[in-house]
Amino acid sequence: MIVLDRCAVSTVDSSGTEHASGHVVVDGSRIVSVGSGPAPKPDAEHTYVDASSCLVTPGLINTHHHLYQWATRGLATDATLFEWLTALYPVWRGLDDEVTHAAASAGLAKLALTGCTLAADHHYVFPSGGGDVFDALVSAGRRVGIRLEAIRGSMDRGESQGGLPPDNLVEETEAALIATEQAIRDHHSTADDALVRVAVGPCSPFSVSKELMTGAAELARRNGVRLHTHLAETLDEEEQCQAENGCTPTEYAEQLGWLGPDVWLAHTVHLNGDAVKRLGATSTGSAHCPTSNGRLGTGIAPVRDLLDAGAPVGLGVDGSASNEDGGLVVELRSALYQARQRGGPAAMTAREALWMGTMGGARVLGRADSLGSIEPGKVADLAVWDLSGLDHAGIADPVAALVLGTPPPLKLLIVGGEVVVRDGVLLTAPTDDLARELSAASRKLQEAAR
Ligand SMILES: [Zn+2]
Repeated sequence: MIVLDRCAVSTVDSSGTEHASGHVVVDGSRIVSVGSGPAPKPDAEHTYVDASSCLVTPGLINTHHHLYQWATRGLATDATLFEWLTALYPVWRGLDDEVTHAAASAGLAKLALTGCTLAADHHYVFPSGGGDVFDALVSAGRRVGIRLEAIRGSMDRGESQGGLPPDNLVEETEAALIATEQAIRDHHSTADDALVRVAVGPCSPFSVSKELMTGAAELARRNGVRLHTHLAETLDEEEQCQAENGCTPTEYAEQLGWLGPDVWLAHTVHLNGDAVKRLGATSTGSAHCPTSNGRLGTGIAPVRDLLDAGAPVGLGVDGSASNEDGGLVVELRSALYQARQRGGPAAMTAREALWMGTMGGARVLGRADSLGSIEPGKVADLAVWDLSGLDHAGIADPVAALVLGTPPPLKLLIVGGEVVVRDGVLLTAPTDDLARELSAASRKLQEAAR
């Protein structure tokens, strides 16, 4: 049992309940009590945490990432998306299980240290001879100890088929589908507190054939898992889709059976009014990745419009090759700034940004019943932010401290009742070891690309 006492609490429940000084009690893997004032004295043996000067929020949820890219940061820093991809594909050709495990472990460590308790990772690069990179990703999740929505991605449309990736980096359509189904069998859990779930994720319309898009949707629905892809990230993509299919990327997705409550789409930057309505009407989720969109200059997603249309929207870090920071908490501020740059000061509140980073993400990943808010009975995934230091002491509003201020250190990060971070230190894996492994992995990839 863990008793967090004397803390500010932002529950992010459906009423937005907050406590200026309250408590949260965890028993086993579940939240058993949350409220104002001092914690009730538990009968059972427990760990008492005086969390005064702390803000407790639900653990943050990252709805889009490519953890392998943590080993390929700092390349093509001034390129458009298509130029950036074309520069990086040859480097990614050298990816194997060892590099993937090192990069994913380091990337997940950074996420844990920035408040993340559940990360969706979209892995779509499976070079021949690279070993079992998907298994390497899942084992990194278990090593670091945060939840993983492991998305078995795929690409089957190389340059010779009019796609963007080189032919030697794509899979055969049927082989990709068989491997995806195997990944579900090997790793997917349906438990409401599952540490690992698997989703199906052909990479993007410009790197995937129509057959793979429709086959993947059919496979995901047959297996009861979720569907993910990149969509409407750039104007280049929009132009290519219009030229090839005579429609917008959203219309293309709808034609292929790719809108629905079991689907979430990364970016959704370039949407017209009809597309926003369709995503809302079909409860199709969006993974909003403001920093990555800024790094690649792709545009500002119409997040206010999507929220008003009733579409689930969560936040995403995106791959660290297009977001070298790799942390999650800063995305709260980036999302708020981008919404206000697009729609003025009323376009988003600090609390809406926190909602997107928690409950919004839980909705996007289909886990709102058990994750995303602090309520009795829910799984105890909690971030305890320390606001006692120079950066935040005395600030009037703890949620403003979190969203608008310097990213605060974590007093605790709790995943299913287990403490993963204490006083800013990752307990599950020494970060010095992770950094050493990461350096070796990055060197290996860059040498292989020469
Ligand atoms: Zn991405």
